[in-house]
Amino acid sequence: MVMDTKHKASIIDGKAAALAVRDRLRQEVSALRDGRGIDPALAVILVGENPASKVYVRNKGRACEEAGIRSMQFTLGADTPQAELLSLIDKLNNSPDVHGILVQLPVPAHIDEGTVLEAISPQKDVDGFHPCNMGRLVAGAPLLAPCTPYGIMRLIETIGYDLGGKDAVIVGRSNIVGKPMALMLLHKNATVTVCHSRTKDLADKVRAADVVVAAIGKERFIKGDWIKEGAVVMDVGINRTTSGGLAGDVDFEGAASRASWITPVPGGVGPMTIAMLLENTVKAARLSMKGNV
Ligand code: NDP
Repeated sequence: MVMDTKHKASIIDGKAAALAVRDRLRQEVSALRDGRGIDPALAVILVGENPASKVYVRNKGRACEEAGIRSMQFTLGADTPQAELLSLIDKLNNSPDVHGILVQLPVPAHIDEGTVLEAISPQKDVDGFHPCNMGRLVAGAPLLAPCTPYGIMRLIETIGYDLGGKDAVIVGRSNIVGKPMALMLLHKNATVTVCHSRTKDLADKVRAADVVVAAIGKERFIKGDWIKEGAVVMDVGINRTTSGGLAGDVDFEGAASRASWITPVPGGVGPMTIAMLLENTVKAARLSMKGNV
């Protein structure tokens, strides 16, 4: 998936790649419904009033509808006791009509995120954050894999890039992006370095990378002259700029003058993250057919 560009780098068009996934899923969903009597459904739980979370939940609901996936949204007040949230998750775990369950993060401070994520049935854990799914990812046999790194792997596949023997540097070590990304790249035979806020000589590490994944949360933090000629650059960051736009964690202009492939922000990794959520939901619906729930 490539867009024309005046830069040296070809731009990886995440929007187009995501659209292709969603088109395919629409067909799979109707085949499941008509052929197997399964109506894939995703339950999204939002606790509190975080404005960004509300937008994410709304977008996920819309994406579901477009793919023909039933979407259910549960909005709980910011002071909802943890026990109440756990009881809702339990109900959804036991409902045969619900195939995927997602709790929008972050949850309010009085709720323990780990406890909540562990309460979701691993077969319905479409975010792939349950320790069981994380463990399976470590072992190289993921059931449901975290959407953002999963989407990045798909984008790398769409450009036909062989990761075997390549040096990959990930900046950021969160449980939702950096760590699972490292495992996925490792499984495809890249040599992986994971950097974080205590990493020494970060620029030099990035300069040595054939593949750079930036997941930091700081606008244009990775400078153009850190990028090795011909590198593949995957920018996960979503940062609101002072002018009201969005920018990634990479200085796009500088990096695009040296890289061979680069994802834009917006329109790169973000749309694929949502597409992988839909894909995981359809996968979870199939798992339910196998009587795993
Ligand atoms: P976290 O805040 O959980 O993690 C950020 C990571 O960056 C940490 O590991 C941190 O290191 C590291 N970091 C911070 N400062 C530096 C520094 N100066 N040098 C090196 N490393 C540093 O963020 P997430 O992983 O959740 O998200 C990262 C970005 O990706 C955000 O902008 C987020 O909005 C975006 N995002 C986008 C998604 C998409 O679909 N496109 C999905 C998920 C996230 P340390 O661990 O030492 O603190």
